[in-house]
Amino acid sequence: TKLRVGLLFGGRSGEHEVSISSARAIANALSAEQNSSKYEILPFYIQKDGFWQAGEVAQQVLASGAAIQNPAASPNLWQFPPAAQTVDVWFPILHGPNGEDGTIQGLLSLMQVPFVGSGVLGSATGMDKIGMKVAFAQAGLPQVKYKAVTRAQVWSNPCVFPKLCDEIESDLGYPCFVKPANLGSSVGIAKVRSRQELEAALDNAASYDRRIIIEAGVVAREVECAVLGNDQPQASVIGEITYKSDFYDYETKYTAGLADLFIPAVLPDAIAHQIQDMALQAFAAVDAAGLARVDFFYVESTGEVLINEINTLPGFTATSMYPQLWGYSGVPFPELVDRLIQLALERDTVTE
Ligand code: ADP
Ligand code: MG
Ligand code: MG
Repeated sequence: TKLRVGLLFGGRSGEHEVSISSARAIANALSAEQNSSKYEILPFYIQKDGFWQAGEVAQQVLASGAAIQNPAASPNLWQFPPAAQTVDVWFPILHGPNGEDGTIQGLLSLMQVPFVGSGVLGSATGMDKIGMKVAFAQAGLPQVKYKAVTRAQVWSNPCVFPKLCDEIESDLGYPCFVKPANLGSSVGIAKVRSRQELEAALDNAASYDRRIIIEAGVVAREVECAVLGNDQPQASVIGEITYKSDFYDYETKYTAGLADLFIPAVLPDAIAHQIQDMALQAFAAVDAAGLARVDFFYVESTGEVLINEINTLPGFTATSMYPQLWGYSGVPFPELVDRLIQLALERDTVTE
């Protein structure tokens, strides 16, 4: 009998549409010849309001690629489709908050059904840029100088705010990057060059998240490494992203033609190896499992490699960096999806 794979996509985040594209690519891979005799796909679509759709509606979103919002379904957000009880292994491919951050992973853990990717701790640590940086620092990984602040410091106290800005200016200087701690796709991120821009960016970031991080800006090449495995993970070749915009912002990420991927990145061998080592250390530092894409700044002028972030559910469309890095490293897309499901099952057996 075939293993029933609960493909969980959509979700309550700004990356809803990317998630649909990722799920379509994964469904396609599960239907490929070498997988179709092993796996049966059960699609579960989480609407933007959080309501779960199974069966025909989920199938329709998967087939068309277009988000739907069924208003009649909205009042009862917590009723899971009965089909959820028949899943053998979950494949959550939800990006950002309420999907990549440990919330869904907690739910799936409670269901006692194995799932692809990191558990609660790895997902939550990977999502929160402050928690992530603390874990990286503990592991001895070099990173940019940063400062963590809260929404309360930005909003509630008019005496504290100017002092806070003074500190940021003297510790980090300009340009610096202001980011909500728990988002992705560059949403809410600003590169600031003056006191006025800093104040506005902090206020804006506070509208997205209670937790805010400010980082010293670096001039660097942006390189990424894919990691696959559980306790003995492997690192892929390195990829590079280039673009003409000021930084790798939302528009650059999601407008065709504004950014280019280069695989493999043209780097000295020693640097490429260092990046792979650091990617594996980062994976372990946050307790990731299954998959992660680890992103770096390579400061060519000094030869320095700084870790930027880890993404525990990276973009997984046919043209996304993660599957492309593995494709180049000798793991074609259908095999990658198969390996991830097997890793989920393996992890479950070990923790029993
Ligand atoms: P996200 O999780 O939304 O991708 P990142 O922290 O990766 O957020 O930041 C998005 C982009 O902003 C990066 O890819 C890079 O182009 C730019 N950026 C972020 N932090 C810095 C920094 N400290 N120095 C230079 N560029 C940065
Ligand atoms: Mg990210
Ligand atoms: Mg990023």
